[in-house]
Amino acid sequence: MNFFSDLEGYGHEQLIFCSDPKSGLRAIIGIHNTVLGPALGGTRMWAYNNDAEAITDVLRLSRGMTYKAAVAGLNLGGGKAVIIGDSRTQKNEALFRAYGRAVESVGGRYITAEDVGTTVRDMEWIRMETEFVTGVSALGGSGDPSPFTAYGVYNGIKACAKKQFGTDSLAGRTVAVQGAGNVATYLIGHLTKDGAKVYVSDIYADKAQKICAEYGAEFVETDKIASIDCDIFSPNALGAILNDTSIPELKCSIVAGGANNQLANEKKHGEALKARGILYAPDYVINAGGLMNVASEIDGYSKEGVLHQAEGIYDIMLRVFAMAEERNILNHEASNLIAEQRIAAIANIHSNYVGKPTIKR
Ligand code: NAD
Repeated sequence: MNFFSDLEGYGHEQLIFCSDPKSGLRAIIGIHNTVLGPALGGTRMWAYNNDAEAITDVLRLSRGMTYKAAVAGLNLGGGKAVIIGDSRTQKNEALFRAYGRAVESVGGRYITAEDVGTTVRDMEWIRMETEFVTGVSALGGSGDPSPFTAYGVYNGIKACAKKQFGTDSLAGRTVAVQGAGNVATYLIGHLTKDGAKVYVSDIYADKAQKICAEYGAEFVETDKIASIDCDIFSPNALGAILNDTSIPELKCSIVAGGANNQLANEKKHGEALKARGILYAPDYVINAGGLMNVASEIDGYSKEGVLHQAEGIYDIMLRVFAMAEERNILNHEASNLIAEQRIAAIANIHSNYVGKPTIKR
C-alpha cells in the first residue's frame, strides 16, 4: 500500500493512526477536507480482514462526508473514523476513552458521532475524554436522527414529484417503501398523511404488517416491492438495491429513499435509470437530515432549526436536477459538482487576510 498516493488520490488532508495496545485500540481517523469547517463523521467499528481494508474504508467514507455536508449547505468538512475490532465482543470503556483522547488530540479538526457498530453509550465514553463528539444522549445531545432523516427524504420526494409530475402534491400518488425500519416508519407517516397510497415490505414481515395496520398501508412481499407498479420506489433498507436485476424490473417514475449507497455501481446504474426515464434522487443528498441533526449539536441543538434545514432538501434537490439537465450529466454527478463548486468558492473567499495583526513597538 502506498499511503501518500492513496491520500493524494482521494484528496485527503490527513490520516491519523491511533494505537493503545493495553485497551486494544486500533483506530484510524480520516480527515478529507476542512475548507468548510471541522470534519464531522461517525466512527465505524468493524472487524476488517486486514489493515488495508480498514484504510480503504476510512478514505472512502470520509470523502463521502465532505460531499454530503457541502451539498447540504453545512459549514462542515468531511471526516470519518474506523476502530478495528468486533463490536459485539471487543468493546470496553478503556478502549473508547483511549479513542476519545485520540480525537481530543486532533484539536477539533475532527468531530465524531455514531456509525455502524457504535452506539450512544460508546459516544458517552468518548465524551468523558473529549468535547468533540456528537450523538450523545445527555449533555445537549440530539437523540435519534431518524425522524429528521425521514423528514428530509419526504421533502426530497416532493421535489422529485414536482420535477417529474409538475406538482409536488403526493395525494393519490403510489409509493413502494422498501424496509420498515426507523426512517421508513416516520416517512410512511408523512406520506399517508398527505394522502399517498403506500406499499411496504420488510424481511421481517410482521414489522411491515404492523406499520401497515397503523398507517393504512398495504403489505407487499420482499421480492415484489421493487417491481410493483407505482409512481415512486423508496429504498429505505440496505445498499446496492439498484442493480442489474432490479432496474429492468422497476415500474416507477422516481426512485427516492433514505438508504445509503443505493446504486450498486454509480456510473453504470445511474445511467441505466436515466435511460429508462426514471428520476433518481442521489441518496447522500436526500438522506442528509440525520447529519443536519447531529451537526446542530455543535452550535447548541435546535429541533426547529434542524426541521427547517431538512425542509431545504426540497430546494437542494431541484438545484441538483437543474444542474444535471444543464450539463447533461447524471444526478449524482450534478450533486458532486455542486459540492465541489461550493468548496472551491468558499476556499477562494477565505484566501484573503482578515486577521488582526499584533504590532509590537
Ligand atoms: P433500520 O435498521 O431501522 O431499518 C432497516 C430495515 O430494513 C429493517 O427493518 C430491516 O429488517 C429491513 N431490511 C433489510 N433488508 C431488507 C430487504 N432486502 N427488503 C426489505 N427490508 C429489508 O435502519 P434505518 O435507521 O431506518 O436506516 C435505513 C437506511 O437509511 C439505511 O440504509 C441507513 O444507512 C440509511 N440512513 C439512515 C439514517 C438515520 O437517520 N437512521 C440516516 C441516513 C441514512
